Amino acid sequence: MRLIFLGPPGVGKGTQAKQICEHYKIIHLSTGDILRNEIADNSLIGNEVKKYIDNGNLVPDKVILRIIENRLKNNDVHEGYLLDGFPRTINQAEGFQKIIMDQNHYLNGVISLTANEEELIKRLIKRGKDSGRSDESPEIIRHRQKVYWKRTAPLLKYYNEKKMLKKVDGLGNITDITLRILETID
Ligand code: ADP
Repeated sequence: MRLIFLGPPGVGKGTQAKQICEHYKIIHLSTGDILRNEIADNSLIGNEVKKYIDNGNLVPDKVILRIIENRLKNNDVHEGYLLDGFPRTINQAEGFQKIIMDQNHYLNGVISLTANEEELIKRLIKRGKDSGRSDESPEIIRHRQKVYWKRTAPLLKYYNEKKMLKKVDGLGNITDITLRILETID
């Protein structure tokens, strides 16, 4: 099972990704988590990406694609994976397509989680108070939303045209949303 989760910051991709990965026994790959770990480790990549993340901008496609390509060579993704936070640009989606074609793999589907912008900003500001993340001040949160609509939202159309997109309402309690996602996948 290979899935992509798409949706604006705050929509609950991370929370739902955990549930879905447990259900299918697949690996959760969050590029945000991978990047934050690199920063915490003070690695070369970490130093390169920190300024983008702190300002709420996207890390360059080249860097992300290299990370994903390497990560997908690991044996633990054999049973499948859920990508959370990747791809985030059309260029990344095209790069990803090449990577999986080279591996003779295919994607099962793209889940788009939706919610209105007011609700998202409210959730993020609440989360920002105790997440300890460097990019969760109200100003950076608003900027990340803008970046999403400009650079990532075009992927909704992109995957819809490929007949891969499935929309799921991201409002409600966590279990209900998980059930909605599972129904959509089945
Ligand atoms: P959220 O879903 O709340 O936006 P993430 O943890 O997915 O948070 O991402 C945090 C930050 O990490 C982004 O604002 C961006 O700077 C960087 N990032 C994560 N994934 C990508 C990606 N695929 N391409 C470029 N930048 C990324």
